[in-house]
Amino acid sequence: MKALDILIFMVGLVVGSFLNVCIVRIPEGKNIFWGRSKCPHCGHVIPWYDNIPLLSFILLRGRCRYCKQKISVLYPVVELITTIVTLALFKKYGLSYSFLYYVVFAYFLIVLGIIDLKTKLLLNRILLPMLIAGLMINVIGQIVPFKDALIGAVLGGAAMWLIAVLGTKIFNKEALGMGDVKLAFVAGFFLGWKHILIALYLGFIFAFVTIIVLWLIYRKDIPKLIPMGPFLAMGFLFYLFYGQKLIQWYLGLIS
Ligand SMILES: [Zn+2]
Repeated sequence: MKALDILIFMVGLVVGSFLNVCIVRIPEGKNIFWGRSKCPHCGHVIPWYDNIPLLSFILLRGRCRYCKQKISVLYPVVELITTIVTLALFKKYGLSYSFLYYVVFAYFLIVLGIIDLKTKLLLNRILLPMLIAGLMINVIGQIVPFKDALIGAVLGGAAMWLIAVLGTKIFNKEALGMGDVKLAFVAGFFLGWKHILIALYLGFIFAFVTIIVLWLIYRKDIPKLIPMGPFLAMGFLFYLFYGQKLIQWYLGLIS
């Protein structure tokens, strides 16, 4: 590993730790930049040495030092995913505006996906800053042609809206919410119209496979409301890394 790789790795860990703060505090309406983190069970302020990304969770064996209650495994998982995604995008794009653009996209997806998993909400106060951040970096860095991004947003939002309407008609219950439509809109902006539909499609495949597996395990006890956000986030992230290869493979199949 080169020195810069190690630095990016550390940045990934630190950002992952910050994303955990966002995931806990944004739904509660708390400030994400100010205030010490506390144990959700006993309220004890977490000292810095128990707040080291990945390492503390392992050293504490996943339990609070004071009340011995379990710490959610989501914390180290978020830190790990964030670090891997950061390093992988850096390897793909180097230090560039493209790296910044896609890594910001990925960070927002992680926060949105995990919060949706926990609360079943895709919050406007995350989606709006995400769109603005994408817009700003794209204007400065010229990553996706503006027209492509705009058409992508409309296409993504419209496709998701159509699926939501059809889903409601067919299953006679609301399977997708407006949050999913908005997320598809924002992701369409980031990815552009050439990519958004396949990325959405990947999200649905992830959801479909997961529901089948859940059904095989739990049968009738399967949760009634499974949020779509985490699967969309997974689809978009997967597309960032394997989209191009997937398209080539598919074109190879049909030609
Ligand atoms: Zn505690």
